[in-house]
Amino acid sequence: MSEDLETVSRQNGPGTLFVVATPIGNLEDITLRALRVLREADVFACEDTRTTGMLLKLLGVERGERRMVAYHDVNERRACQVLLDILKSGQNIALVSDAGTPLISDPGYRVVSLLREAGMPVVAVPGPCAAVAALGVSGLPTDRFTFFGFPPAKSGRRQRLISSLDGMRGTCVFYVPARQIPALLTDFQAFHPRWRLVVARELTKMFEEFIAGTAAEVQAAIAGRTLKGEVTLLAAAPIEGDDASGDDMTATQPQPEE
Ligand code: SAM
Repeated sequence: MSEDLETVSRQNGPGTLFVVATPIGNLEDITLRALRVLREADVFACEDTRTTGMLLKLLGVERGERRMVAYHDVNERRACQVLLDILKSGQNIALVSDAGTPLISDPGYRVVSLLREAGMPVVAVPGPCAAVAALGVSGLPTDRFTFFGFPPAKSGRRQRLISSLDGMRGTCVFYVPARQIPALLTDFQAFHPRWRLVVARELTKMFEEFIAGTAAEVQAAIAGRTLKGEVTLLAAAPIEGDDASGDDMTATQPQPEE
């Protein structure tokens, strides 16, 4: 890796694990810093080496002879040892997932956790994340939100989760396989019929779409359609009155003390 500001202070020490966010659809969402780190890293840690190989090609990043180490839930522990040895030898690693921010409903948690425990430098190279992108344009409260990742596929467990949202403040964010959207809408219709929902589909891509309303309204809007692609679902309890941030929610910015 070349001597830039990020590496110069770490000369002669272990390498750094850079956790690099990549686009969730639109290639232009790659950051300048992510591009540089991908160009300069010695090794790639990938969820799927073929997907990352394709991404590098599309981004015009030469892989050359650089090694790719696959990490995923099955082999994360073994991959950790390999990655630890690489860092100890002073080489830098760019850890990427198939799309978006690694570890967010993606593998990599054990890698980061164990490498941190081993005292290795871990640095974020932030960028796209479907949950945050969807939240920011949903029109739902942003001052407090809870990320649920993928809801359970089994109906009983999923219904228990949705019914347990009673009294929840702020916005609930779910990653949902498109085919599961009708079932989830039925659950919201049963347990929270007045909640405001936003289906954010194919964010940053050609067929990006937002469908907002109560569960019944969203059901009506998609009646007769089979939703396809990647979907993030956001849900928030209705807020009485005009104060969109709710009565006891924290303000967007910290307020000066009186
Ligand atoms: N790590 C990724 C991130 O930072 O968003 C998420 C990975 S998770 C395996 C994939 C899920 O994220 C999809 O099933 C979908 O729920 C959501 N997602 C990913 N890309 C999306 C997009 N372009 N539009 C809407 N949701 C998306």
